[in-house]
Amino acid sequence: MPANLPSPVILVHGGAGKAAPDLTELRRAGVQRAALAGWQVLIGGGSAVETVECAVRVLEDDPAFNAGRGACLNRDGEVELDASIMDGRTLAAGAVGAVQRIANPVTLARAVMGAGRHVLFVGEGARRFAAEAGIEECAPEALIAERQRARWAASREAKAGALGTVGAVARDREGHLAAATSTGGLPFKAPGRVGDSALIGCGTYADDRLGAASCTGDGEAIIKLVLAKSALDLLEAGREPMGTAKHAVELFTARTGADAGIILLDPRGRIGYARNTAQMTCAFILGDESAPQVVD
Ligand code: ASP
Repeated sequence: MPANLPSPVILVHGGAGKAAPDLTELRRAGVQRAALAGWQVLIGGGSAVETVECAVRVLEDDPAFNAGRGACLNRDGEVELDASIMDGRTLAAGAVGAVQRIANPVTLARAVMGAGRHVLFVGEGARRFAAEAGIEECAPEALIAERQRARWAASREAKAGALGTVGAVARDREGHLAAATSTGGLPFKAPGRVGDSALIGCGTYADDRLGAASCTGDGEAIIKLVLAKSALDLLEAGREPMGTAKHAVELFTARTGADAGIILLDPRGRIGYARNTAQMTCAFILGDESAPQVVD
């Protein structure tokens, strides 16, 4: 990588929680694929926004994650998806809440961002916006993975905890930052519930001057502490990113006692990640590397 260009960085996560060993392996492979796909966009000269959209789409298409085609089911046995994306260069942002029949809600969120006027669409309006943007609907069953159907059938109580939400942060060769997050939300959630992953500042935030962040965990608690933006505000106070991620999760845990994980990036492209759960599978590629590193 030429020394005069900012070095590109991609960091993705596959959700905070605890997975069975077979699912852990699938998720390790999945986050690596997503990081590599994002990396190809970056080294091809793509923007940070294009990169995080691409990486999140790979994870939405992977039934091992609670997003897109592997999303968990709500109380009624239906899939309702939340997603958001933010461009750190301009602060442009787009999000969708509780959408159905959309295989890649991150792309719908990006279309909302691109249209420019509004930030968040839900319900019937989101559906109409998708049609106008040329984003095709899929059959609802196409988003239901066998694993999630079995989980729903086995226990209709919201005890399984948050797991498998996906997110990405990136810095492109021009030094711009972006973040995106996508999820099926919490298992057995009430129909119409929207979590942090659809809310700018809570699940997702990016500002070239502060950094970029994507969160996962108990959405209601994350919303109350506006976790993504709060963590980046801590970063602004001069801390390094790994320590900042840990500190943000510690503050979150002390105040809420809930589950959470966060990935973040500072304007210099340094990464941070932390969780208070047993796992949060992440993959990243930094600077002149080309093979993803994976951490649980
Ligand atoms: N934060 C997501 C939500 O509450 C769930 C997760 O991260 O697993 O919708």
